[in-house]
Amino acid sequence: MIKKEILIVDDSEINRCMLRMMLEKDYDITEAENGSEAISIIEKDDHIFRLILLDLVMPQMDGFEFLEQLKEHHVQQDLPVIIISGDNSEKSLDKAYDLGAVDFFTKPFNPNIVRHRVENVINLCSQSYRDALTSCYNRSGFIQIVEKFIQKVDDITKYSMIFFDIKNFKAINSIMGTSGGDNVLKFTSKSIQDSDLNPLFVARLEADHFVCLAERERIDYDAMMDHDGDTIEIKGRQMQVRFRMGVAHLDDESSVAGYIDRAKLALNYIEDEYLKPYAEFDQKMAQSYVNTAVVTSEFETSLENDEFKVYYQPVMEAATGKVASAEALVRWIHPERGMVPPDLFIPALEKDGYISKLDLFVDIKVHSILKEWKSQGLPTVPISVNLSWMDFYDADMIQFLKDRLENDPSSSKDIRYEITESSYAALKENRSVILKEIRHLGAWLLMDDFGSGYSSLAMLMNYHFNILKIDMSIIRQLENNEEVPHIVELIINMSHHLKMKVVAEGVENENQLEFLKKAGCDYIQGYYFSKPLPEEDFKKFLAKHQAENKILTY
Ligand code: C2E
Ligand code: CA
Ligand code: CA
Repeated sequence: MIKKEILIVDDSEINRCMLRMMLEKDYDITEAENGSEAISIIEKDDHIFRLILLDLVMPQMDGFEFLEQLKEHHVQQDLPVIIISGDNSEKSLDKAYDLGAVDFFTKPFNPNIVRHRVENVINLCSQSYRDALTSCYNRSGFIQIVEKFIQKVDDITKYSMIFFDIKNFKAINSIMGTSGGDNVLKFTSKSIQDSDLNPLFVARLEADHFVCLAERERIDYDAMMDHDGDTIEIKGRQMQVRFRMGVAHLDDESSVAGYIDRAKLALNYIEDEYLKPYAEFDQKMAQSYVNTAVVTSEFETSLENDEFKVYYQPVMEAATGKVASAEALVRWIHPERGMVPPDLFIPALEKDGYISKLDLFVDIKVHSILKEWKSQGLPTVPISVNLSWMDFYDADMIQFLKDRLENDPSSSKDIRYEITESSYAALKENRSVILKEIRHLGAWLLMDDFGSGYSSLAMLMNYHFNILKIDMSIIRQLENNEEVPHIVELIINMSHHLKMKVVAEGVENENQLEFLKKAGCDYIQGYYFSKPLPEEDFKKFLAKHQAENKILTY
């Protein structure tokens, strides 16, 4: 247990000695003979004092001047000062209070009173930079102390900022109740302090977000990956507290708050939190970080300016090579940045709630194109649009989709909806009826990205889909992981049992195609047949296939 540090500033050696004896059991004591010595000790920056005991009358620099200088230093604004003085005339005490002192002791000192008041003042004053629940630093305390710390180190690149986010904290909170959740937070703060990282400073920023500064060489990723989480017992239950971690190495180019942001940003880049629950910040992330802000600020104007274009990727029937359908994929043709892929801007739009606007735009576009082509006697196929989980919270959008299905029943055969398991949470919140309604109105539902996540099966058990799309990441492994072909066969068989057709996504070569055909996969989507095409090219693609009698009729 590290002792809190106190600085005693008094020219009388006897006074210093007495105070030291009263306090040194609980505190680390540093002594100064006068104000200027005290200032230079504070400036040296190798102490983090929690309290100053200050005599007013001293040679060289007296207590008043010291208080004035301390104010100008701004080093530790919250550092409380207690006056110890024989001179307790009201005038000088008033002056000392004006200069920021918080309390005073008169000589002779009563050891009991001294100890209690010191403890009280430290506790009270630390509230503004300590987290009340866990008693580690809060954000402002952490920033202040780390700023002070990095000013004094020779090589800042030896240190790293690590951001922690407790996995499933929401679930823990709802199972264990708020008091259980609080226990988990206290436990977490302690297990970070005691971890092998041996952090220099730990803070709780908000909710279940913790951050610490540690030496870079103490970071052991293998250990982090093996780490099963520390176990805490709450209400007789054993719970494992596991983290997701974002790491930013210090590099002299940012501020403490900036390093915290970077570490937090890295968290968002954790791809598979089960296999690798951490990510390191790199400049690419900073790039997309800027983009996120740019995306949401530019989105509405860009939509009005027609910068968003819908591309169409054909889906072919595996057995015949006929065009069976297509998927609508949005592109942002930015006037300066060129074509921005959806992976770069969709997460930003989901965060800021704009995604439904975009999805609606795509849906309307697809609907109008199909109408137009049909009226011109051109060939068409059913087109699926992607729904984001956010869309299920947008009552207006859902109503719009339902109204159209009711008013124009033929559209139910033209437009299909792709849903990923990320919608599961939204649907469970009493929105499950939305999918049923859409289905009853005749539209087809596709389970998107099957196999990329963890609750796909739960989705299948709770909702009925017409088509299942095997995620590209699985197709990618067909050729280099001997288990994968069996898994793909099982997924296809399972789907057929459940009366679903199957699309394999991301098929790029003949090998994959041949295997999938043999395994009974119904449809193929991927670069092997075609990349997503702009509207005009897709129109030509359909015309060419129609000429060869290669468009599937249902
Ligand atoms: P997704 O729904 O899984 O779409 C398939 C993605 O795989 C598309 O990327 C497509 O271009 C790509 N792809 C298809 N075949 C191949 C292949 O053979 N090889 C490779 N390497 N890639 C292939 P894209 O267009 O960049 O879209 C990425 C994701 O963005 C989509 O994944 C979808 O989740 C989302 N997205 C796209 N358009 C929309 C939209 O209008 N609304 C919403 N909510 N999400 C969209
Ligand atoms: Ca999709
Ligand atoms: Ca997909």
